[in-house]
Amino acid sequence: MSTITNHMPTAELQALDAAHHMHPFSANGSLAQEGARVITRAKGVYLTDSEGEEILDAMAGLWCVNIGYGRDELAEVAARQMRELPYYNTFFKTTHVPVIALAAKIAELAPGDLNHVFFAAGGSEANDTNIRLVRTYWAEKGQPDKNIIISRHNAYHGSSVGSASLGGMAGMHAQGGIPIPNIHHINQPNWWAEGGGMSPEEFGLARARELEDAIQELGEDRVAAFIAEPVQGAGGVIVAPDTYWPEIQRICDKYEILLIADEVICGFGRTGNWFGSETVGIKPDIMTIAKGLSSGYAPIGGSIVTDEIAEVIGGTEFNHGYTYSGHPVAAAVALENLRILEEEKIVDHVRDVAAPYLKEKWEALADHPLVGEAKIVGMMASIALTPDKNSRAKFASEPGTIGYICRDRCFANNLIMRHVGDRMIISPPLVLTPAEIDEMFVRIYKSLDEAQAEIIEQGLMKAAA
Ligand SMILES: *Cc1c(COP(=O)(O)O)cnc(C)c1O
Repeated sequence: MSTITNHMPTAELQALDAAHHMHPFSANGSLAQEGARVITRAKGVYLTDSEGEEILDAMAGLWCVNIGYGRDELAEVAARQMRELPYYNTFFKTTHVPVIALAAKIAELAPGDLNHVFFAAGGSEANDTNIRLVRTYWAEKGQPDKNIIISRHNAYHGSSVGSASLGGMAGMHAQGGIPIPNIHHINQPNWWAEGGGMSPEEFGLARARELEDAIQELGEDRVAAFIAEPVQGAGGVIVAPDTYWPEIQRICDKYEILLIADEVICGFGRTGNWFGSETVGIKPDIMTIAKGLSSGYAPIGGSIVTDEIAEVIGGTEFNHGYTYSGHPVAAAVALENLRILEEEKIVDHVRDVAAPYLKEKWEALADHPLVGEAKIVGMMASIALTPDKNSRAKFASEPGTIGYICRDRCFANNLIMRHVGDRMIISPPLVLTPAEIDEMFVRIYKSLDEAQAEIIEQGLMKAAA
């Protein structure tokens, strides 16, 4: 076979992609007919495709490219580390400088006594680690039956068997024989879709108290941990009412349930603080990290645990680890990413500049005829599409039909914005400037207007009965 390069015609690249590459979370049969868009390079907040189109990436890849694309510093660090020590493990009484430096840096950044890091290659692996960590923790404390983990419907914690079991995605649970045993799901704090006649405050409390009900039903001596994203990401950027998190913290404290904050999206500046836990005011015992840890430049994730958990786990041999736990190149890249986030004050930029400006414009989207609520925390935001905002109506069509139409209009207008059911979501690079935000909104309004016209034309502007 001849060399495959950027210079090949798009159609040839698409044909080869369709012939040999299986896309994640895709219907590969129909994608093969349509042809995947070939992304060839990226700089700042813009992607370039094989036709030379410039696409504004309002998702920062998969919520991960926090510092933006094209930072040479990371490329240089990776090249240097590959030459010096491309790989070594830390299983058998060895360690290396990048993993030492990264673990120490993360301990410095993480709040409270979250001072110990177990590394993985991404968020799914890290959450698999968490399942084994919390069960081993309680077993070591003489309570091996305290092994049930409570999570939430519509949570996303990854795609491996363990992490997808923790997650609450119905579509994922429908395939491949998951969830694994001893994972229990309670309802999510999604007021727009599920709040009924309650005020957001009442609803937030009610949904938090489902945790207490579950603990009482399952038995305090059976429940090991509760896991949640500070702001649900893949579930549709669901922001809990203000009453929710204080009540969750109270319940975890009262029943001695470990609180795992899945910070894979919220961590490293996304919500305007270093960690989403700080934004929502919780004190987790374990944090899951990945994505923004390296801004997606290298695959790396991990679990940050408290002094106490590290001490208990340290009392036994923890029979767990990944070939790429603390991979030196990924660790060096992550460390350089954290240096840039810190020295360029990117978290301050989010809090003081980008997020306030984005919030003002984002919340105004609620005036668009197709938009119900508009929610935003830092640099992650969502809008609920609705045929009738006053009654918070859902569409009569199959859920996701309208969101899909809207996403396709965005894609055609060179804007990456995702849909989750009939919600539209963004999670742009944190370095987005006000001028880029203005450009993004030109594309958002154009796409929403076109989607609205298409929905009306197809007779889909109808509320579910
Ligand atoms: C993406 C994500 C994961 C999974 O991370 P991977 O690196 O894809 O394995 C876990 N939790 C949350 C909250 C995520 O958004």
